Amino acid sequence: MTESSSAGAAQAAPEKHGFQAEVRELLQLMIHSLYSHREIFLRELISNASDANDKLRFLALAQPDLMAGESELKIWIDHDAEKGTLTIRDNGIGMTREEAIAHLGTIAKSGTADFFKRLTGDQQKDSQLIGQFGVGFYSAFIVADEVEVLTRKAGEPAARGTRWISKADGEFTVEALEHEPRGTTVILHLKEEAKEFADGWRLRSLVRRYSDHIAFPVLMRKEGEASLDWEAANQAQALWTRSRSEIKDEEYKEFYQHIAHDFAEPLAWSHNKVEGKREYTSLLYLPARAPFDLYQRDATRGLKLYVRRVFIMDDAEQFLPMYLRFIRGVLDSNDLPLNVSRELLQKDAEVEAMRSALAKRALDLLARLAKDEPEKYATFWKEFGPVLKEGTGEDPSNREKILPLLRLSSTHEEGDEPKVTLADYIARMKSGQDRIYYLIADSLTAARGSPYLEQLRAKGIEVLLLADRVDEWMMGHLREFEGKRFKDVARGDLELGGLEGEADKAAAEEAQKENKKLLKRIKDALGERVSEVKVSSRLADTPACLVLAEGDMGAQMRRIMAAAGQAVPEAKPELEVNVGHALIKRLDATSAEDEFTELALLVFDQAKLAESGSVANPGEFVRRLNKLLGQLMAAG
Ligand code: ADP
Ligand code: MG
Repeated sequence: MTESSSAGAAQAAPEKHGFQAEVRELLQLMIHSLYSHREIFLRELISNASDANDKLRFLALAQPDLMAGESELKIWIDHDAEKGTLTIRDNGIGMTREEAIAHLGTIAKSGTADFFKRLTGDQQKDSQLIGQFGVGFYSAFIVADEVEVLTRKAGEPAARGTRWISKADGEFTVEALEHEPRGTTVILHLKEEAKEFADGWRLRSLVRRYSDHIAFPVLMRKEGEASLDWEAANQAQALWTRSRSEIKDEEYKEFYQHIAHDFAEPLAWSHNKVEGKREYTSLLYLPARAPFDLYQRDATRGLKLYVRRVFIMDDAEQFLPMYLRFIRGVLDSNDLPLNVSRELLQKDAEVEAMRSALAKRALDLLARLAKDEPEKYATFWKEFGPVLKEGTGEDPSNREKILPLLRLSSTHEEGDEPKVTLADYIARMKSGQDRIYYLIADSLTAARGSPYLEQLRAKGIEVLLLADRVDEWMMGHLREFEGKRFKDVARGDLELGGLEGEADKAAAEEAQKENKKLLKRIKDALGERVSEVKVSSRLADTPACLVLAEGDMGAQMRRIMAAAGQAVPEAKPELEVNVGHALIKRLDATSAEDEFTELALLVFDQAKLAESGSVANPGEFVRRLNKLLGQLMAAG
């Protein structure tokens, strides 16, 4: 005893620490620019208390001694209107001195830097971003000008308590403290303009709102400031364990906001209990907004995992495929062992089976939303569409479920919002058409202006316009929908089939023959740049275009590979020329070989530009173009 107290005395002097730079910045933001949704601090602190209790309960499975003295896990909320303080206490895991310094002085999350980059300075937007990011502990400074944390780690003696205190002025102080209660007490010294939170009535309504679904009792003093009796202000039953029919929509929404740290309401949810050979409950949510790290490889994702109501881990990513990483929610299994680890989850056949069932549930949820609430589905698509598209390649077993969920742009739909379903497309197909035509481009604008569409447009044939980064990859995995093959209009033969009359075909063949000499001259001029030169079936107003072979890598994919530093295979396209075009006619009439070659190269580079957005040698291209323009001016 003497020994430990003298050890305590050695550290008794308060020790100053600076906050990590990111935390300082975050704190500035909390203090100066978060006026709306101020009350979220309470949700965050109750959530931390609940996490702390969860963690202790989990550790106590292996070390029951940790619960000694107090086996019921609880949360207490108290206030003092006179002093203007608000206190949130738990009897959970607690923190050591080192942990307090590390956890309450830095941000451990990945993507922090990204978060700061995305701040706009716009109140409304930034406060939403803060919500998405999960502000956690530091949100206490939205309402408090001083925050005090008294904590004792479970299993440590009372003499090893810690007091952490900060005014958010760039630093915090820690000191040793004799502290009997196990767990953590957070005391907020409320700002003048936040004194309203030291009010029993106001607190009770907030607590009810933010913690009804918390699985631990949240105790508050009975009416009357000085009352010594405590009562639970919440139901203290994990929401997902209750039956669907008795849970209100409001409760589902609040629970979502609790687990996802999102101000926004979810678009939809799906709550299911599976019984029989395998028993588990799942509650899956569809958020209304993409998190800022949706496309980051190391971003956390997955469900909150419980085993028989005991919290096991956050972000259990093994229960949903990558392309459904936007789904948030809870999974509570009756069969998994309590000591399950991430490594075990990775290899487990049970987990595999659950993942496949949960993926189906999530896709059913999307299908239901698409059918019943198309506007909400459009919101979903805008935020997460490209991610869902990944599923077409990643999860062939569910392709039939994913394809009807796609929303695409097309030549038959105005505007930027993709609305066309594959079923719409098929219903509008022209008689004799048996291909689903599509075009991949860098942007919708580029797609709409693409020369590849000229003849198809003239014939009134609809073409899907694909401009997401994942599109070429996706189309590489898709062969057909409802028996109709997909056809890239920038590759190979257009396969017009029944859309083309016998007369058209004969005319096309005739044109090839008639222009044989010209085509050969162009091919000779271009040499190895192209595999062949043909009369075009695609063009109306443009002199020429490049056409890739079916198996060649397209421009989008080539760019992605090049950006990733990977070797890009050479593709040798065909050049299709529009023999009706004045420029090609002029070319045909040119007898001087030098001039012919110059002009042919110019035609080729133009086509290259339209196909891929760049030419091999821009300087030369510009020189050639200017030379020609110069000649024209001299002639005029
Ligand atoms: P998050 O909860 O997302 O991890 P927070 O900012 O809310 O982020 O909390 C930071 C960390 O501080 C927590 O991960 C935890 O380690 C620690 N912490 C906060 N509150 C408590 C508490 N009541 N008991 C124990 N540890 C806590
Ligand atoms: Mg937290």
